[in-house]
Amino acid sequence: MKKWVYLFGEVAEAEKYTGSWEGVRALLGGKGAGLLDMTRAGVPVPPGFTVTTEACNEFRKTGKFPAGMWDQVLTAMKSVEKQTGKKFGDANNPLLVSCRSGAKFSMPGMMNTILNIGLNDEVAEGMIKLTNNPRFVWDLYRRLIEMFGTTVFNLDDEVFEHPLAEYKERKGYKVDTDMTAEDWKELVSTYKDVFKRHVGFDFPQDVYKQLELATKAVFESWNGKRAIAYRNKEGISHDLGTAVNIVTMVFGNMGNDSGTGVAFTRNPSTGEQEMMGDYLLNAQGEDVVAGIRNADPIEHLQSQMPKVYKQFMDISNKLEKHYKDMQDVEFTIERGKLWMLQTRNGKRTAKSAVKIAVDLANEGLITKEEAILRVTPENVDALLHPQFDAEAMMNAEKDGTFLAKGVNASPGAAVGQVYFDADTAEKMAKEDKQDTIMVRPFTKPDDVHGMIASKGVLTSEGGATSHAAVVARQFGIPCVVGASAIKINLERRVMTVGETVVKEGEWISVDGTTGKVFVGKMPMTSPSLEQQTELLTLLKWADDICARKDIRVAPVKGYPTRGLQVWANADYPKDARRARSYGAVGIGLCRTEHMFFEPERLPIVQRMILSHTSEERTAALDELLPYQRKDFDGLFEAMDGYPVIIRLIDPPLHEFMPDEEKLLEEVITMRVKGESDGLADKETLLNAIRGMHESNPMMGLRGVRLSIAMPEIVEMQVRAIFEAAADCTLRSIVVRPEVMIPLTGTVKELEWIQPRLERIASAVMGEKKGKFDYKFGTMIEIPRAAVTAAEIAQHAEFFSFGTNDLTQMTYGYSRDDAERNFLITYQEQGILEKNPFQTLDRNGVGKLMDWAIAEGRKTRPNLEVGICGEHGGDPSSIEWCHLIGNNYVSCSPFRVPIARLAAAHSALRHRAQGKVTTPKKKVLAKIPKTRSKVTQKSAKKKFAKVK
Ligand code: PEP
Ligand code: MG
Repeated sequence: MKKWVYLFGEVAEAEKYTGSWEGVRALLGGKGAGLLDMTRAGVPVPPGFTVTTEACNEFRKTGKFPAGMWDQVLTAMKSVEKQTGKKFGDANNPLLVSCRSGAKFSMPGMMNTILNIGLNDEVAEGMIKLTNNPRFVWDLYRRLIEMFGTTVFNLDDEVFEHPLAEYKERKGYKVDTDMTAEDWKELVSTYKDVFKRHVGFDFPQDVYKQLELATKAVFESWNGKRAIAYRNKEGISHDLGTAVNIVTMVFGNMGNDSGTGVAFTRNPSTGEQEMMGDYLLNAQGEDVVAGIRNADPIEHLQSQMPKVYKQFMDISNKLEKHYKDMQDVEFTIERGKLWMLQTRNGKRTAKSAVKIAVDLANEGLITKEEAILRVTPENVDALLHPQFDAEAMMNAEKDGTFLAKGVNASPGAAVGQVYFDADTAEKMAKEDKQDTIMVRPFTKPDDVHGMIASKGVLTSEGGATSHAAVVARQFGIPCVVGASAIKINLERRVMTVGETVVKEGEWISVDGTTGKVFVGKMPMTSPSLEQQTELLTLLKWADDICARKDIRVAPVKGYPTRGLQVWANADYPKDARRARSYGAVGIGLCRTEHMFFEPERLPIVQRMILSHTSEERTAALDELLPYQRKDFDGLFEAMDGYPVIIRLIDPPLHEFMPDEEKLLEEVITMRVKGESDGLADKETLLNAIRGMHESNPMMGLRGVRLSIAMPEIVEMQVRAIFEAAADCTLRSIVVRPEVMIPLTGTVKELEWIQPRLERIASAVMGEKKGKFDYKFGTMIEIPRAAVTAAEIAQHAEFFSFGTNDLTQMTYGYSRDDAERNFLITYQEQGILEKNPFQTLDRNGVGKLMDWAIAEGRKTRPNLEVGICGEHGGDPSSIEWCHLIGNNYVSCSPFRVPIARLAAAHSALRHRAQGKVTTPKKKVLAKIPKTRSKVTQKSAKKKFAKVK
């Protein structure tokens, strides 16, 4: 008979069945695995057992418990009765249990939990006799009926909250603690009526029926709306199912020697090594988690219950060491005895993820490699997000825009329009494309969709462990909680602080880093990487991993190689300097045409384009040459010693000309008004632009085709590159220029243009007497170039995948229009899993790349290969580049840190295993005859140097 149920003491059996700890977590869920593991470690855990995720998955298929499961539950209950010395349903010595969900991956608050199961009329009376505390018992009972109604039978909270509010109002009570035993007793009877009215039958008195219904409800909550939305957002598989943990109830609400709390073993916002938590005396678990009552900081427990505090600290430290990670623990103190109810790796902000990973590695608890894998590229991205301008924040108090301060629950800056409920916040964000800030007194699991859709979250109640704080941290949404100065009026849809009134739809700024809230839109600035010491350390470790000479196996040949390098796309010296400071070790793409758009250059460029003779064109280009030389000089200087790939002009020339429609309008207006001054020039220009018109410019006269049609432009560019390089060399700057020819489709194009350009290169080097290494290579952007890569590599000394164009041409989707026209629908309909312009399509575009590298290296074994399309900064695409043997990825300077981490992740996840072969003989590329002798010699020397 299959085992569907594991007692907390049966961890060894679960390990044996699954063969690994990952397997145990999949079988018993994270919470269940944690409870079994804590029991084994001797931590005080209330006795209980876990029903497996396999049982849940069977139930989801058939709608019934699998055969034998319920009998195993009954047997396990007997064992729990034995361990506790209590009996389920026995009025004289009752055992109460909770029924808690728990999947492999934590989904906080997304599924059901039912507490106090085992209470009925008879047991309630018995418990009153035993505890002598009728108020406590009636309170438990009413909670059970309420939870049964809302979670097992999906009734609205409102059906129970309304009678309670009405009752309190009738009695003139303000808070729940005003309620007496008699009051709760009366409410139990009201709740029973409510239950019957809505559900159609009496609240079940049979305790085993309660357990059965609760177990089914937990299984079913796997497919609840909230849970599905959460899994979609987090990329968790819908097939895993949830386990059910049936745990002996211990009570934090048995008087002032009892309490309950949650704590993080390190600060989940900043990562500082300090216990951070909240607890409430005389309360039940959800009171703290919901943030409904303002809880006490955990340090206060030291004076209130010194022994329990010490025991709690010892256990928490032990758990952190055991799991080698920051723990999020839940505990209850029942009449002075501490019980640990749960431990799990705590959710954390990006900042804290980095600090904790680096600290744990420095403390020797984990390796540097583990630390790297614990931080996600998204974490790094979040750390480089904009923050509010420091000066504007300082002035805010003076200029009256400061509104209030609360707890800095999840860092980051958010500016948006205020909405007071989740549905409206989501609607405004999704349908009206607004930046929204969701503002609530406190949040509940039903609010998560509004939080996710919003740029920021603000609550007036709750603390750092409240629902709003935990969820916001997890999703990286800036969040301030407990800003108690703010009075929210949900009916009037306004919030006020003193005289200041903010109405729904008005703008506010929320700073999750400092906890401050401002009216209006606060200006933002980019964060500085230099100040983030832990992140710098982690990225240095990441680079070290990639630099290991044997971390990856070269595809095809199978010999050991280093991991990926990260270069950057940068057009100007200031971008290059930023790229360097972010850790780039090369420029993978300098789009030279961007420089042509500068105001003082554009008229010269236009004159050059409109030239009628080669002489006229050369004259205009001569004027441009010093500008370009200066541009390249600055780039070489900034990248001193690192390679700089400069791409020759790529876009169609009409892009440099005035807009045709606008010009036509001007010409017509002048004609109508009879203005003749300058009209003839405008008409000539209009005709010239019309002459350049192409129906399909992206497939027209651009890239290498343009260079062949008008070689003077690229000849000027190559001269500028080599003059700048030679000048730099003379100034002792080490230069490594690489000239990149765009949009090649056939080797014949290279055969035509490259020798002309190489001749200029040699000539300049001769003139200037500067010697340096250089390369000529090409972009692989056209599928034909990828397919014929072996031929292309006869001329090209390097390849750089222009995956923007390569994706456009492989799919046949216009990179300018597809996103707004049909890509979203394609994704919604599941035709495309991801946007191929953001994440490389491995099956199509990726295969072409793989083929191109293999073929290219058949011709030229040491062919340098990179990528410079947008995909160069996308983690999944980076992984693909690692696998197919790219030497580097190149991306925008801002994404360089993300790419460095993603490159190390790829190296570690696919690390070379076992024995790798080394090729016996290094085959040198056939150097085509077109290269000069000098270049051939230096090229041979270079090839010999590379592994
Ligand atoms: C590309 O096509 O991927 C590329 C980098 O070039 P551009 O985006 O300038 O066309
Ligand atoms: Mg391109």
